[in-house]
Amino acid sequence: MNATTITVPQADPGAGYRAHKEEIDAAALRALGSGWYILGKEGEAFEKEYAAWQGQKRAVGCANGTDALALTLRGMGIGPGCTVVTVSHTAVATVAAIEMTGATPLLVDIDPDTFTMDADELVAVLEDPPPGLPPIRAIIPVHLYGQACDLDPMLAACKAHGVMLIEDCSQAHGATLTGRKVGTMGDAACFSLYPTKNLGALGDGGVLTTDDEALADRIGAIRQYGWKERYISDGVGVNSRLDEIQAAILRVKLNYLDAGNARRQAIAAAYDEALAGTRYAAPIRREGSGHVFHQYVLRVPERAALMARLRAEGVATAIHYPSPVHLQPAYRGRTALGPAGCAETARAAAEVMSLPMFPELTDAQVGHVCTVLRGL
Ligand SMILES: *Cc1c(COP(=O)(O)O)cnc(C)c1O
Repeated sequence: MNATTITVPQADPGAGYRAHKEEIDAAALRALGSGWYILGKEGEAFEKEYAAWQGQKRAVGCANGTDALALTLRGMGIGPGCTVVTVSHTAVATVAAIEMTGATPLLVDIDPDTFTMDADELVAVLEDPPPGLPPIRAIIPVHLYGQACDLDPMLAACKAHGVMLIEDCSQAHGATLTGRKVGTMGDAACFSLYPTKNLGALGDGGVLTTDDEALADRIGAIRQYGWKERYISDGVGVNSRLDEIQAAILRVKLNYLDAGNARRQAIAAAYDEALAGTRYAAPIRREGSGHVFHQYVLRVPERAALMARLRAEGVATAIHYPSPVHLQPAYRGRTALGPAGCAETARAAAEVMSLPMFPELTDAQVGHVCTVLRGL
C-alpha cells in the first residue's frame, strides 16, 4: 500500500447527501421555514409520490422500517395469539417488529443460493405447522440484499391457507421479479428509509405501501395514537410518524432512486467481471429477478483472512449479518424454528461478506476494488 492507494468505504451515507446537497438543503430549509414539522404537506406529498413510484394505491410514512412492519401487522389485527413466519438471516428488526405486536415469530431457513426464505420450507410449515404454536396468520419474506424472494409459491400457499403476506422491502426498493416490482405482490410492503438503504433519509424513516385502502386508513390512525380525528382515539395506537424535514429530503432522493439502483447494478457488473477468473463466485441471481444490490455479497469460507487482505489494500468490507437472529443472546433458545433448524442460515452467517456498494462510489474506486479482486 502506498500513499496514493484509494481507500474505499463499504458504505457512505454522507456521499448520498453531498451528491445532491443543493436540492436537499433547499428542501430541508423549505420544511424548516414552513412552521409545520409533523404530518404536513411534505409528508403527504412524499406518500403520494412514493405510492405512485411504487405503483400502489397508498403509502403511509412512519418513523422507521421496524415500525412499518409492526404497524402493518397491527393494522391486520395480528398480535398476541398469532404466529408470524419470517427468516433468521435478516436484520434483527424483522423479528423485533413481530415481537413488538405480541405475536410469536417462527423462523424458517434460507435458500443457500440467494440467501432468501426457502419457499419449500415455508409451504411445508403452512401445511403442517410445528405443534405448540398459535395459528400462523402472516408471513414476512425479506427481499434480502436487493434481490426478490421466490415469492410465487409463497403467495399461492398464503392464499390457500388464508395467511397474510407482508413483503419486507427494506433492502429492495425498486427490485423486480419477472417484471413485477417487489412490494406490489403481497398484501402490504414495508420499507426502511434508514440512511444507507437504497432510498435513505438523513435520519430515521419508514414507509409502507398497500392497495388495501381500509388497511392504509387503519395504519394511518394507529401511527398517531389511534386518532381518526384530532384528540379522539378511535383505537389503541402508538406514535410513529415521519417528520416533515425527512419527508422533504426523501422527496428529493426519490427522484434519484432509479438512477442510484442502475449505478449499483453497473458496479455489481464490474465486480462480477473482476471475480470471473478467481475462485470466488459472483452473487447468484434468481431467474427473472431485477437485483438492485443493496449489498454485493460473496460467500467466503476463509472470511476473516480475506477481509484483512482487502483492508490492507484499502478496501473496506462488512458482514450482513454475523449472527442469525435465533442465535443472538436475546433470542437464543426461545425462538421457534422450522423443521430445517435454520442450518443454511447458520452457514451463511459464517461465510457472507459484503463488498463496497453505494451509488456514489467513483469509477476510480470501483476500478481499484476490481484490481484488488482480480489479484485474489
Ligand atoms: C433496515 C431493515 C429493517 C429495519 O429498518 P429500520 O429503519 O432500521 O427500523 C427491517 N428489515 C430489513 C430487512 C432491514 O434491512
